[in-house]
Amino acid sequence: MFNWKGSLLTLALISGSVWSQDAFIVRFDLNDGMKKFLRANEFDITGVNYKTNEIEALLTTEELNQIKAEKSANFKFAFPQNLAVEPDDEYKNPEEIADFVNEIHAKYPDITTVKVIGKTLEGREILAVKISDNPMIDEVEPTVLVNAMHHAREVMTPEITTDMIQYLTSNYGTDDQVTSWVNNTEIWVIPMFNMDGNNKMWNEDSMWRKNTRNDHGVDINRNYPTGWNSCNGSSSNTRAQDYRGTAPASEPETQAMMNFVESIKPVFNISYHSYSEIVIYPFGCRPNKTPTTEAVEAIGAEIGKKLDYKPGTAWELLYNADGGDIDWMYTTHQVIPFVIEVNSTGVGFHPEYTKWRDKTVLRNRPGWMHLFSRLEGPSLQGATVANDYNLIKIFSAGSSKVLQTYKINPDGSFYIILKAGTYDFSFEGTKSKKLTGVEITKKVEVKI
Ligand SMILES: [Zn+2]
Repeated sequence: MFNWKGSLLTLALISGSVWSQDAFIVRFDLNDGMKKFLRANEFDITGVNYKTNEIEALLTTEELNQIKAEKSANFKFAFPQNLAVEPDDEYKNPEEIADFVNEIHAKYPDITTVKVIGKTLEGREILAVKISDNPMIDEVEPTVLVNAMHHAREVMTPEITTDMIQYLTSNYGTDDQVTSWVNNTEIWVIPMFNMDGNNKMWNEDSMWRKNTRNDHGVDINRNYPTGWNSCNGSSSNTRAQDYRGTAPASEPETQAMMNFVESIKPVFNISYHSYSEIVIYPFGCRPNKTPTTEAVEAIGAEIGKKLDYKPGTAWELLYNADGGDIDWMYTTHQVIPFVIEVNSTGVGFHPEYTKWRDKTVLRNRPGWMHLFSRLEGPSLQGATVANDYNLIKIFSAGSSKVLQTYKINPDGSFYIILKAGTYDFSFEGTKSKKLTGVEITKKVEVKI
C-alpha cells in the first residue's frame, strides 16, 4: 500500500468499455470525524475495515480535491491497488442467474420450486427458489430467507446465494445435516434481487449501485417504509448513491420483497452485501439502539464469531441508514434479520474471481448454516389451535416486564428464538393460557 500526504496525486484512470467516469477508490484512516465528513458531503463510502481501521470511498478527482482543501494538511489517504475495476466475466448477470435457477429446478424437481416474486422496473422477473421437501406445499415448518444484491455492483453476493442453493440441493439425501435442514425447513433464496441495476452495471457503469429509476436510480435499500427518511440515513438528492426515492416503497422491487416476506413470514433473513466483513442487525438509526428482540444481537454476535466478521448496528459500524430492508422485516414481521457485508477493503466490489470467489463463498457457509442450527437452539416453537390465540407475551421468569410480544402466524404456528434462560409465556386471544418457569436451553416444542 502506498501513502500520499497532501498534494501528490498521481493515478492511472481506468479505461474500458463501461468505465468512463473519473472515479477511483480512496482509502482514509477510519475515525468518527472522517466518517461524518464523508457522509455529510454525500461521498460514496464503499467499505470499512475494523482490523486495520481504514475506510474507503469512491471519489472523483474533484471530490478528492475538495477533501484535501477542507481537511487538515496532515490527514492520510491512499490509493489502494486499482479497485474501481470492471468485474471479471465469471460473475453472473441477470440472464445467467435465470439460467442457473432453471437448471437447478430441472435437476432437483422434488426439492425445489421457482417463484416469480414480482417484476423489476424494466420488467425482469425477480426469482426466488424454494428448497424443501414437498416444495409445492406450504408446510407448517419454520422459514429461512436469504437474498443477495440489493446493490447492483456487489457481484460477489449472488455467488454466496447460488453456492447455498447448489450446496443444499446437491447434498440432499447424502448429507444427513443438509437432508434434515431441507426436510424440516422452508428455505427461500433470492439469488439476485436488483437485476436491472446489475444489467446496467455490466453494460454502462461498473460502479452502479441503485435500481434504474429514470436516469438516476433509487437505492432500494433506503426505500423500505420503516424509518424511511428519518435520521439522515439516506439522501433526497437523486444523484446520491443512497437516494431514497420519492416515497416509502415507491419502487417495484421494494414492493415485491415486502409482499413476498409478508407471504412467507421468515424466522430468519440474511441480506448479502459487499464489502466490509461485518454483520449488521437492526436498527439503522442511532436513537433506536436497542432491538426489541434480545436474540437478534446475540445471534448477530454468533454469526460474527463464525465468520470473523464484526457484528453491530449500521450506525455503530458504518453510519445511520434509514429505510433498509432489515429494519422493516424486523419491525413489521418479527423476522430476525441480518445484513452480511462480504469481502474487505483492498478487495473492493469486484474481487478477482479466481482468487476470491471460492474463498469467499466457503468462508460464508458457516454464516447461513448457523441459521439452521439456531432453529434447533434455545427457542419456544409449536402450534396453537387456530383462532384461539393471536399473540404471546414473553417475560423473564417471575417478572412482569414484557421482554417481547410475538404475533402468532395465521396458521397457528410460532417460532420464538430466544437467548438461553428461564421464561414465562402468556398466550392471549379469545382464550388465554400461561406457561411459567420454562427453562429454555434448546428447542422446546409445545402444543397449546
Ligand atoms: Zn450494499
